[in-house]
Amino acid sequence: MLIQRGGLKVVAGLGISGVSAVNFLYEKGYRVAVTDSRAVPPGHDKIPSEVQTHFGVLDQDLLLSAEEIIISPGLDPKLPEIQAAIAKGIPVISEIQVLRRATDKPIVGITGSNAKSTVTTLIGLMAEQAGRKVAVGGNLGRPALDLTKDDPELYILELSSFQLETTSNLNAEVAVVLNMSEDHLDRHGDMMGYHTAKHRIFQGVKKVVYNRDDSLTRPLVPDATPMQSFGLNAPDINQYGVLRDTDGTIWLARGRERLLKSSEMYIQGTHNVANALACLALGEAIGLPLEGMLETLKTFKGLEHRCEFVKEVNGVRYYNDSKGTNIGATLAALDGLGAAIEAQGGKVAIILGGQGKGQDFTALRDSLSKFAQVAVLIGEDRPIIETAIAGTTTLLHAESLQEAVALCQQCTQAQDVVLLSPACASFDMFSGYPERGRQFVALVNALN
Ligand code: ADP
Repeated sequence: MLIQRGGLKVVAGLGISGVSAVNFLYEKGYRVAVTDSRAVPPGHDKIPSEVQTHFGVLDQDLLLSAEEIIISPGLDPKLPEIQAAIAKGIPVISEIQVLRRATDKPIVGITGSNAKSTVTTLIGLMAEQAGRKVAVGGNLGRPALDLTKDDPELYILELSSFQLETTSNLNAEVAVVLNMSEDHLDRHGDMMGYHTAKHRIFQGVKKVVYNRDDSLTRPLVPDATPMQSFGLNAPDINQYGVLRDTDGTIWLARGRERLLKSSEMYIQGTHNVANALACLALGEAIGLPLEGMLETLKTFKGLEHRCEFVKEVNGVRYYNDSKGTNIGATLAALDGLGAAIEAQGGKVAIILGGQGKGQDFTALRDSLSKFAQVAVLIGEDRPIIETAIAGTTTLLHAESLQEAVALCQQCTQAQDVVLLSPACASFDMFSGYPERGRQFVALVNALN
């Protein structure tokens, strides 16, 4: 028998995390209702029939009758219906907050503009390799509250700025903001708002990892909090960084100690060296043995849609970086691949565009001038992007991804690279970045 306790918990916004919040709260015996502005929200058939549902409009009366609102990351707390509830003193919290209350097990918290999924997956594998009973999820893979079913000894959570804006006192065992570049300004207003949301991950943190190359990732925490850093320069004692031999060999290092050559990893590019170093620092903070972490680094093949090599056609290499949905990610891919082929005279044909999320695309100008043979623009915000990058390289327009791939093929020759790294969201043309990436891979595989 379920114990009906407390007041009403209202889940605002269904979808993957909303479904998991509804089910979690219901199973714990709370009175639960859910509202969503969509008439048939995704996951409507995955919740208990006893749960009250109010679909088709965000039900203001229901929200005002809540003891607490659990808001899905896809919903903006600035919506008037949510603001009205806040004005009445009703707490609005994320499902991550619900998890924090439900468990006293340690949490590794990972956020940043880019690399969250890569680092979360990799540190998860490292912890498993060390025999730790971990549950990995959050903004990637399984929603955070589903992970409680595993009864893990440690949670490794990827957290988005949207989840963090309604999370307080996460009290993470260790937390990191991997990097900060413009993203989601349409929702957070400006970099200050975005930065503030991300840095909530450090509330009550026990140990900190930060990126020495990006001062915006270093938190203000009490002096006694242990701080470990990573960066692409030579590390100080006890820190993680890079040492370079005179023959050009790049080493992942801890202090003066050379740990692993970057060429021993499958994941490529300097941004992935930074990601690997971040994982070593996080792993050290939770007591993982170094040897096992290095073994994991040697076997990790990287994630789909993140600078993923697809195929070589007539000497031209094609890369799917569909997850490059902001300028920071696209710069990492363009600079990384561009620098690698520069010595052989190769250039990059890049496919850019989609929904620009209010970013300032002039930040791409230097790298485009340096490395791009052509930029093929697709999607809704083409005019904005074109204005921002005019004069850097040849700019072409395509009405479809198929046309874009064909144009790239025409404009490239052996040694060149074709890169899908749009620096934009995909929803104007696709169901999401995975579909955009899959279509690109299919189009490339059909080339000859
Ligand atoms: P997130 O979960 O933060 O979106 P992902 O690991 O899925 O991160 O990678 C997202 C995008 O960022 C991909 O295009 C990837 O190639 C790029 N990327 C990965 N690591 C970095 C990094 N350290 N700096 C900048 N971009 C990166």
